[in-house]
Amino acid sequence: MRTFVLATANPHKAEEMSSVLEGLGVRVLARPDHVGDVEETQDTLEGNALLKARALARATGGVAVGDDTGLFVEALGGRPGVYSARYAGENATYADNVEKLLDEMSAASSRRAYFRTVIALATPDGLEVTVEGVLEGEITREPRGTNGFGYDPVFAPDDTPGRTLAELDPHEKNTLSHRARALHALVAELEREPRRF
Ligand code: IMP
Repeated sequence: MRTFVLATANPHKAEEMSSVLEGLGVRVLARPDHVGDVEETQDTLEGNALLKARALARATGGVAVGDDTGLFVEALGGRPGVYSARYAGENATYADNVEKLLDEMSAASSRRAYFRTVIALATPDGLEVTVEGVLEGEITREPRGTNGFGYDPVFAPDDTPGRTLAELDPHEKNTLSHRARALHALVAELEREPRRF
């Protein structure tokens, strides 16, 4: 069975990623405590995901998975995008970011948006692959639901009309989320070339 080390220390994301990957037959290890956070210094999701996967593969000697996600809002010209975590400032909470988003969208004519996740896999000897997953939907006028994290309470996927990601149970979110789609793409990629990883 394959084993991947996850770069994320975010428990919500680690849980989502473990649950999807284990369902696909991949064993998952959490990032060891002695390996610190890698700063997201790049201006693309690909750049940040690769940065994290490479650093973790080097530090652990194992096959490592890094990810980066952004929310791209049409009416805001694609913002907050790669800067979604820091949208309302360097130490912004999820609630701060949601509040700023709803404020900025108050007069918007389009509420279309999508989440995009890029997942990078890196081996200690320098093999790398990146894949993506996209989830299309709309920004709601107010937050709804208590599950999930981040922008979940204000994002209603096209696939679940009338319900935000925070109103889905975790299993349902994991069947359709941008991160789950990227993970499925990753496993499909590995199946295509099983000897590389
Ligand atoms: P990260 O770089 O993958 O941690 O994602 C950046 C930011 O995007 C996070 O701080 C969250 O605010 C947001 N985000 C990422 N994934 C999700 C999700 O599945 N639902 C809602 N918000 C998310």
